[in-house]
Amino acid sequence: MTGQGTPAARSAATEPSAAVPCFYRVASRREDTGDTVTVELAEPDGPVPAVAPVLAFAPGQFAMLTAFGVGEVPISVSGLGDGGGGRARGLQHTLRAVGAVTRALCAVQPGGLIGVRGPFGTGWDVASAAGRDLVIVAGGIGLAPLRPVVLTALADRSRYGRIVLLVGARTPADLLYGGELDRWRRDGVEVAVTVDQADSGWNGEVGLVTALIKPARLAPGNSVAFICGPDIMMRVTADALAALGLPPSRIRVSLERNMRCGAAWCGHCQLGPLLVCRDGPVVGYDRAAALMRVREL
Ligand SMILES: Cc1cc2nc3c(=O)[nH]c(=O)nc-3n(C[C@H](O)[C@H](O)[C@H](O)COP(=O)(O)OP(=O)(O)OC[C@H]3O[C@@H](n4cnc5c(N)ncnc54)[C@H](O)[C@@H]3O)c2cc1C
Repeated sequence: MTGQGTPAARSAATEPSAAVPCFYRVASRREDTGDTVTVELAEPDGPVPAVAPVLAFAPGQFAMLTAFGVGEVPISVSGLGDGGGGRARGLQHTLRAVGAVTRALCAVQPGGLIGVRGPFGTGWDVASAAGRDLVIVAGGIGLAPLRPVVLTALADRSRYGRIVLLVGARTPADLLYGGELDRWRRDGVEVAVTVDQADSGWNGEVGLVTALIKPARLAPGNSVAFICGPDIMMRVTADALAALGLPPSRIRVSLERNMRCGAAWCGHCQLGPLLVCRDGPVVGYDRAAALMRVREL
């Protein structure tokens, strides 16, 4: 993975439509945790301006979502739906309400409209990991962009070796996709979960997600890693996997930087030589490691 961007990302970034939000209806809305909501999008009923003609997202790519009258933020796809013909219908996003825009987007009820620009950025390129074990490591809301990695691998199970999913959450109540984790386990995904802070009903692991690496008995020589979470979590996880012998070029991280245009026009998300909206968010750790160590970049 070299972070060169998928063809879909490049065409969206160079066409004028990359600047114009298309209207989508919230078809369904599920409250995952106290502050996190997953929405599924559908085309609106009736004539609405700028309905997206084609929005084909790959796992790892993101959209700029508009809460009308409030603002626009980058949000990854958390499920690719069955859109049919590459349309956004069925596209899912999982949003954590942390500020004005994400709070407004989380509050949109079924039937309400949101704006969508995209797809933007590089994807996880799951297919390039065929024949290898997948090591998927998530911190908090970072599980959202990684969900399509699990779903893609399960949809084509025989192409991949072990699927190991290591998840860290702040508390048991913050754990995303609880029911789905159980289903993935039944489907053969090796899921391990840890929390920073347990509650009285928690019998599982407590501590950093990196503590889950050793018990997973990975085969670094034949694995590809996909990591998403806070910067510090991605750094320590990637360093731990590299120390086990996994080459940094087979460790992929998803960088988060403040973004404005999403299409490499404004420079807001510059990180050293990268524009994260175009050259990321998914970047090989061989390129990302040095950039992630410099706080000022
Ligand atoms: C490529 C990409 C994909 C993302 N995918 C998701 C996703 O799938 N689900 C999701 O819930 N969020 C995702 N985010 C983060 C999301 O974009 C921010 O939470 C959002 O921009 C906050 O906007 P706001 O107006 O709600 O809050 P603000 O008022 O802008 O911020 C509220 C708080 O969050 C912090 N914050 C804002 N933006 C970021 C950021 N990019 N990284 C770290 N901290 C930030 C601020 O410093 C502040 O403390 C993604 C970000 C990027 C760059």
